[in-house]
Amino acid sequence: MLELAVFDMAGTTVDDHGLVYVALQQAVEETGVTVAADDLQRWMGTDKVTAIDALIRLGGVEPAEGLAERQFERFKVILAELYERQPPQPIGGAVETLRELRSRGVKVVLTTGFDAAVATPLLRSLGWAVAGTPDAAAAAVVVDAVVTTDDVPAGRPHPYLIFRAMERTGVADVRAVLSAGDTAVDVRAAHNSGALAIGVLSGGAPREILEREPYDYLLDSVADVVDLPELSPTPEAQAPTRSAAPTTSPRSAGVFDPQTIPDNDYLLLTPGPLSTTKTVRAALLKDWCTWDEDYKALTRDVRNGLVALTGSDDYTAVLMQGSGTFAVESLLGSVLGPDDKVLILANGAYGRRMTTIADMLRLPHTTIDFPDTAVVDVDRVGAALDADPAITHVAMVHCETTTGLLNPLAEVCRIAQAHGKRLLIDAMSSFGGVEIDAAGWGIDFLVSSSNKCIQGVPGFGFVLARQSEMERCRGFARSHALDLYDQWETMERGRGKWRFTSPTHVVHAFAQALAELRDEGGVRSRSARYTANQATLVEGMAANDIRTVIAPEHQSPIITAFHYPVGEFDFATFYRDLKDSGFVIYPGKLTELDTFRVGTIGDVHPGDMRRLTDAVARHRTW
Ligand SMILES: *Cc1c(COP(=O)(O)O)cnc(C)c1O
Repeated sequence: MLELAVFDMAGTTVDDHGLVYVALQQAVEETGVTVAADDLQRWMGTDKVTAIDALIRLGGVEPAEGLAERQFERFKVILAELYERQPPQPIGGAVETLRELRSRGVKVVLTTGFDAAVATPLLRSLGWAVAGTPDAAAAAVVVDAVVTTDDVPAGRPHPYLIFRAMERTGVADVRAVLSAGDTAVDVRAAHNSGALAIGVLSGGAPREILEREPYDYLLDSVADVVDLPELSPTPEAQAPTRSAAPTTSPRSAGVFDPQTIPDNDYLLLTPGPLSTTKTVRAALLKDWCTWDEDYKALTRDVRNGLVALTGSDDYTAVLMQGSGTFAVESLLGSVLGPDDKVLILANGAYGRRMTTIADMLRLPHTTIDFPDTAVVDVDRVGAALDADPAITHVAMVHCETTTGLLNPLAEVCRIAQAHGKRLLIDAMSSFGGVEIDAAGWGIDFLVSSSNKCIQGVPGFGFVLARQSEMERCRGFARSHALDLYDQWETMERGRGKWRFTSPTHVVHAFAQALAELRDEGGVRSRSARYTANQATLVEGMAANDIRTVIAPEHQSPIITAFHYPVGEFDFATFYRDLKDSGFVIYPGKLTELDTFRVGTIGDVHPGDMRRLTDAVARHRTW
């Protein structure tokens, strides 16, 4: 349970109309240099003498002795004038949050990168006061202490403001402390102190900037702090997922306090199974019955939730027990009629796996093999379709997890449709993480699984099929257990009934994962997060002289293949060192090249990628 909440002032609890920013800019620019907005943003939360000194240097001038100090005095005068013209206001929800926390027995301390000469008038103009002082009786907000840069040997990102707050309130254990702020250095200082590090977006710092920091939560505003699970008054309280708004999950929330779910020993940077949220894992902790209305309703919800992700009512969803490959085999084996023939486009292990399945099932098929590091060539597809009119279906992997390349799905769909062919897409590792316009592009069947971008745990695959196409497949199956049509018909007629034992725990966790995908803002937001993860990863690896295999224009945000670095490098040692540091990466799957892979999907964030590449730098041998 948390005992102390530390809040930054300007931008976090107090809206000073950005005047600190303006005053800082003016104080620096008075010296004749020009300040870049990015630099200003980066130095905002730091103590102001240091910030002024750094900004003058960034402006290309070596500050004379005492200049930064003199400009700091100017800064205070400019700020006081600006405040008089436009008095600061509490940020929406801040007053209520600070009061609520204190009423729950949590101590509240305000910290700031200003000195007391700035902070004191600021507080007075707000009508806020420190407990035990004469102003406290009539104050709008009472806090337990205010800590300014005069009180510490160094400002943020050093953690001392937070330590001083602990000292002032007699809190002994940093694990009982949260610290919230709106700038990158606020988050960094909180992380450095060991407190729960919370970034808030109310101060105007772009989300991408804060996302690069090692935060525990990113919240829209301080008002969301009271909903953190760490502050839950009861175990029944609903739990938010990390970095998202509090989730309102229909099912597993309210069952277990996610805080009781053990942390993972390491982050899985493998493209499924992947790192899941505690709230998803919480859903696994009960045994659930299957043969009743509740479970069938759950299955219906999951199927409807999947169809909703296609954005089109033309589709129907079928769930199939087993790993993703079982669903691929079920699809290929169930949708080709006796006179059908499939053209398989292969540029990686998963494309070739479809050929293996077609061989084993003795399906009429042709495969075009492309190099693993090149995307499918649409012209060759068109030529193959022109040359062989017996072909009725085209099958392709969207994101080839072998390398992380993204095949040109829209273009392949267009050429297949122009030839009147049906489309089978293995979107196993992309569905939910990359936007796919299934109806617009004319995809007839799309297959994926529970443990990829929906961020569930392994146990079943699913096929999204055009309703009319599914109906056509009656009696086509080459396998009883993997009969997709029969499973679909059972789910339709039985209103959510599975054939054979269903992976109940997994389905419950998946329903939670689908709710969390919606709460994150849907596929678009998730895709943006994965893209930010991947960009942070590639940048950090490049800084360690590790290069990507796939050209950036064909690279997916899902998984990235890297060449072994040049020089002394042993993958087994590298893997073990990273695992000891809390990261599990993936060996390569290319026969021609020495590569390894890093997945950027799951409950992972740009801050995690930053920590990974920091660990890479620590273990560097090349
Ligand atoms: C994960 C994956 C599969 C299925 O693999 P399983 O190990 O059977 O779950 C199929 N295709 C692609 C592209 C994948 O990424």
